[in-house]
Amino acid sequence: MDQQLVKQIEDICSARGVRLTTQRKRVFELICASAKASSAYELLEELKQSEPQAKPPTVYRALEFLLEQGFIHRVESTNSYIQCVSCNAHKHFSQLLICDGCGSVIELQDDSLIALLAKNAEKHGFAINNHVIESHGTCQACISDKEK
Ligand SMILES: [Zn+2]
Ligand SMILES: [Zn+2]
Repeated sequence: MDQQLVKQIEDICSARGVRLTTQRKRVFELICASAKASSAYELLEELKQSEPQAKPPTVYRALEFLLEQGFIHRVESTNSYIQCVSCNAHKHFSQLLICDGCGSVIELQDDSLIALLAKNAEKHGFAINNHVIESHGTCQACISDKEK
């Protein structure tokens, strides 16, 4: 468990004057604890181990909060969630590399790629307000597993 990451979001929350409730923190910890992206259902099942009274809205509200604060990203194509590698203040778009073998997700931040996409859209007079950039394939660990 990356306690430093948890400490980091605690500090950001107090600086922003928003409340990181026990449940919100616990959901974040569960997302961080998993190498692969977690679905809301999986998170609920895990949350129930420490908080038996947890219900789906508990998880959805916690996820909504964490998304708003930029602490996690939603993986649209698999309807699941990962922690943000930077967890920092500003909202950003990333390219997600999703392994179809083990479900791990790598987050890449490439501002020049985002700028290029915006420039291409501009040619059509189009203003982008959201991106979903998700690449599916096989991660390095799964590739070397196959070669053994
Ligand atoms: Zn991120
Ligand atoms: Zn993999």
